[in-house]
Formats: sequence, C-alpha cells, structure tokens
Amino acid sequence: MDSEANHQLHILFFPYFAYGHMIPIIDMAKLFAARGVKTTIILTPVNASVFSSSIDRERSLGLDIHIQVIRFPGAEAGLPEGVESIDDMTSPEMLPKLLAAIKMLQQPLEKLIQQHRPDSIVADSLILFATEVAIKYCIPRFVFHGTSFYAQCVDESLKCHRPYMGITSDREAFLVPGLPDKIEMTRLQLSDIFKSERMAGIWDLVRDAEQRSYGILVNSFNELEPAYAMHYDKVMGKRAWAVGPVSLRNRDNIDKVQRGKKTTISEHAVLNWLDTKELDSVLYICFGSMARFSKAQLLEIAVGLEDSGISFIWVVRTIKKEEEESFLPTGFEDRMEGKGLIIREWAPQVLILDHPAVGGFMTHCGWNSTLEGLSAGVPMITWPMFGEQFHNENFITQVLKVGIKVGVEKWSSWIDTEDVQVKKEKIANVVSRLMGDGEEGKHMRMRAKELGEKAKEAVEQGGSSYERLTALIQELEMVKNTSPANVALSHLA
Ligand code: UDP
Repeated sequence: MDSEANHQLHILFFPYFAYGHMIPIIDMAKLFAARGVKTTIILTPVNASVFSSSIDRERSLGLDIHIQVIRFPGAEAGLPEGVESIDDMTSPEMLPKLLAAIKMLQQPLEKLIQQHRPDSIVADSLILFATEVAIKYCIPRFVFHGTSFYAQCVDESLKCHRPYMGITSDREAFLVPGLPDKIEMTRLQLSDIFKSERMAGIWDLVRDAEQRSYGILVNSFNELEPAYAMHYDKVMGKRAWAVGPVSLRNRDNIDKVQRGKKTTISEHAVLNWLDTKELDSVLYICFGSMARFSKAQLLEIAVGLEDSGISFIWVVRTIKKEEEESFLPTGFEDRMEGKGLIIREWAPQVLILDHPAVGGFMTHCGWNSTLEGLSAGVPMITWPMFGEQFHNENFITQVLKVGIKVGVEKWSSWIDTEDVQVKKEKIANVVSRLMGDGEEGKHMRMRAKELGEKAKEAVEQGGSSYERLTALIQELEMVKNTSPANVALSHLA
C-alpha cells in the first residue's frame, strides 16, 4: 500500500439481510465512496450476486467501492440452501433461523477486521455483535436503523410511558406522550416489540448496542423532521447524522434500475408506458420487498382500482407462484389494457416514482418507500402492515399531511394468508380522493412537491445532508489519527 492509500479512510458496511435494509446501506456506502472514502460492503454469496453489477459499475466509474463475500452458515442454522435473506423465506417461522445464522457471522467479521484494518464500521441495528467487535478493535461503530427519527422517538415513548396500558379496547385511541406533535395510536397498531417478550428482548439488545456505539446514521434529512431529530438527541442522548435521502444517490436510469433485485420489466417498457400518460395521472402501488397479500385481498384491490377509473402501475407479489394469475377478476387484464400495468415481483421503484406521470403512491409505508415517495414529491395512500409502518403512516398523514390512510386497523405479519383488511369500496374511494381533482388531493400534491424539492436540496453540495456527511468524514479522519483508547471511550460518550 502506498502512503496516499494509507491516508484514505476505509469503512466497512454490514447490512442486515433484507432488501429494505441492504438497498439503503449500499446507497449509503456509495455516498461515502463518492466523497473519496474506500468502502467495503459485507454480503453473503446470494446477496452479493444481486448487487454486484451495480457495485462493479460504480467502480468502473472511479469509486473505491467493493463487496466482500462471506459464507452464510444457513445450513448450520437449519435453513434450506439459498435462503440468505428475509426475502427468500417462505414462512415467518424461518426468521429465528436467519437471525441465528447471522449471529454466527461474528467470527468472520473479526477476521475481516484483522485482515482489512478498516477505520470504522457501519452496521445495521440488528447486527448486534458489531458493537462488541468495534470496541474490541477500537474503531468507531455506527448504527444504521433504516428508519426515521420520528419512528424511533415514538417507540421510545411507548416503551417508557406505556400509554397503551389501562386502555379498555384495542380500538380506543391513546396519545403517545412527550412528542412534538399530538400523535394518536390504538393498541391494534402496536408492533410485536410491545406484544412478544422475545421481540421486546431483541429491542432491548438493539437499544443497548446503540447506546454503546459511536453514533447513528439516519436515512433522513433535517428539513423533514427537525423537531424529531432534536427530540431524539434529547431523549436518546446519542449523536446522529442524517445523511439522506440516500436513494437520491441514484441519479441516472441505470442506477435506478440496478438498485436491488433484477426487475421483471425492462426500463424501456415501463418508461414507454408511462410516457403515454398525463402529468400526475398514474397511481403507483407497491408494498415493498416482503409483503404478500392473500388472494382475497388482491381481488379487492383489483376491483377497487378498476372502480376508481384511475390509471395505475401495480406491483404484485403473491404467496404462491402458481396463484399468480388466479386472483384477478375475469377479463380484468383485457379491460385494463393501456389503463393499468401489472408488474410481478420486482419493479424499478425509484425510476417509476420519479416519472412525471406518477401522481400518487399507494404504499405499505416501509421507511425506504416512504422516503422515496417524498423525494419524488408524490403524495401517498398509506397501507401499513408490520414493522414500524404504522408510525410511518402517522408521520405521513398526521405530521407531514401528504397522505390519506386507506384504513388498515391492525398490525399483522408480512405474509397475510387469510385476511381482507380493506374492502374494494374503501380502496376505490381513497384512490379517487387522492388522484382526483378535489382540493384535498391538490393540496397534498403541492405539499409533497415542496418536500421533494427540499429532499433534493438536502443532498446537493451545501445542503444539510451533504454537509453532515462532510463533517462526519472530517471527524473520522481526525479519529483515524487519534489513539485507540480515545476511540474506545467515544463509544461510551
Ligand atoms: N423495491 C423495489 N422494487 C420493488 C419492491 C421494492 O425497488 O418491486 C425497493 C424499494 O424501492 C425500497 C425497498 O425495496 O428501497 C423496500 O424497502 P421498504 O423500507 O420500503 O420496505 P420493506 O421491503 O423493508 O418492507
């Protein structure tokens, strides 16, 4: 290694193996690399094969960015061969096995650190052992949560104050105390960290590892949630850097198309279809990388969309592949020709959202999708299911006021095999309200466009996220030249 290379910062990125976590952490690694930092992303063979062409392309354009492949001990944990991410799982029961396999990656991580001697590690909040390893090797560990300041503040308030205790009905609204806004929830919307002891235990471990880390990297931007960034700072007492929206790092069409799994429609096919549509006339419907609906719910969505009369692109992920076609009403695809485009399994989401013809987004409120919709300046119809998605729904509808709730009442698993949560009449009504000519939709569209502009400004030179990243890189350069003991102490700051 020459002396110049020795001065270059080197950061390891360790994602949790789910697309909603890998995609943004890889965008983040690209952001650091675009600022002259050497970045290495740790992935297992199947996951590496999904992202390698995008990383190779970045490297061919001059970025010092790499994938380090490590073996995935899936078989030792009882997982079938080839299952290396949540997305590959066929039932929620596989989740503890996936977590067990990930836990076995501590030794391989230590070996990589001995081999590469990185200056820092950015690891997902669920890679708990990264904090221990970082402390052992005296390098700063950053936690990547993959969610907003807002959601973390809500969870912290719920954990501390337990306002859901003493409520008589699961549907009765209670106030989440101590937040900058008046936020109401019901017990039905609470996630499993408030219902299952096992999940509560994992949450406590995550918080503990976070407290002992150097700081937090947040995929958000200051102008979006300034009050919650301050509240987080006050309540959690941990330093946080908002450096997003990271998806805006993908500027050209190839970046947008290669960001994630191989798309099941070509860039040209989808753009040609959208080019025939008027400004803000198309509703994009997608429920993220994991959510799968029952056949009965898919049927309700299909009929609701048809009844609304609005043009749409609908990304459909079914529970069993052989059922793919059978949920559609008879003659649906013929009637929808030119009006509705169905994409099976994986769509180039950011490419679609950024097209001027897209004027609304029906989303499950995963944080990446939420932020991607906001960055594209598109108002939303919110259909939360699991994780912290009910918090994101409230953030979109109650705080930012750029979306309408479709009316889901109950937190559920990401594989919903039985229920119909929302009926076709409700779906058609909400779609018409958001996409029609009424004042409500118009105002939301205007507010969403303003937020989209602010998001773009945040990542440009001089913008809040750009400058936070500059400051962080400068700090890490100073830390690189400091004594290991100081780094160890800074984890406890
Ligand atoms: N995504 C995509 N195409 C799809 C489905 C998902 O590109 O067909 C991307 C989407 O752009 C986002 C991520 O996958 O970056 C999903 O993350 P999110 O937090 O929204 O939801 P999750 O998948 O974690 O439930």
